[in-house]
Amino acid sequence: MRTPVIAGNWKLFKTAPEAVELIKGLKPLIKGKQGVEVVVAPVFTVLDRVRSAMAGSGISLAAQDCFWEEEGAFTGEISPKMLLDAGCSHVIIGHSERRQYFGETDATVNKKIHAALAAGLTVIFCIGETVAEREDGRTFAVLQDQISGGLKGVASDSMKDIIIAYEPVWAIGTGKTASDAQAQEAHAVIRGEVAALYDKTTADRIRILYGGSVKPENIAGLIAQPDIDGALVGGASLKADSFAALVNAA
Ligand code: PEP
Repeated sequence: MRTPVIAGNWKLFKTAPEAVELIKGLKPLIKGKQGVEVVVAPVFTVLDRVRSAMAGSGISLAAQDCFWEEEGAFTGEISPKMLLDAGCSHVIIGHSERRQYFGETDATVNKKIHAALAAGLTVIFCIGETVAEREDGRTFAVLQDQISGGLKGVASDSMKDIIIAYEPVWAIGTGKTASDAQAQEAHAVIRGEVAALYDKTTADRIRILYGGSVKPENIAGLIAQPDIDGALVGGASLKADSFAALVNAA
């Protein structure tokens, strides 16, 4: 039995007062909800304020990225150790916006995953195909390459600290969601690839989230799929009522 995860990626939104207001609005709406892990990923500068605002709520704190070195002359970077220090338990790695705009590759994603795991963080590892890759019939090959590249050298006993997020690039922030069947098909391929790289037990245990324009109106069909274990949510995580509706649907 895999506990579902609903994770909110706030991207480059929310000043500290706005972030605190969002958490204050969210807490009563999800109070008492059992059997789901809730994670929010604000920008670095508000991590500490969000951590204080959500104290006692059971919500977990994530960062949206990290660097692979612990410390040193790396201007502008944040290390996994610093994220732990700020109260994070999770970190998103390999989001398609980082791959698209900041030149992240499977190799850099892999280094970040190793560093985050070594520090004791849980990694939300993002993968997904572009529209061109889907139209070329390369979706499954792309996912398999991203999984094997991102997880290269990751030991099977570290896989308990990995959550995979399947986010088709063409569905992120576009309002276009993969159909329930398209998402399930991709998730089954991802689980199969984890089984091929590790073993069936690891594959059966790993949580695989769907991301891409998830909203209260479409979560039910997605979450009902056998290989979908929750959602990584952008736009709908920015308002307390829509994010709470997703948590309460899981
Ligand atoms: C995301 O940022 O990971 C995401 C899925 O965004 P949205 O829900 O807005 O498509």
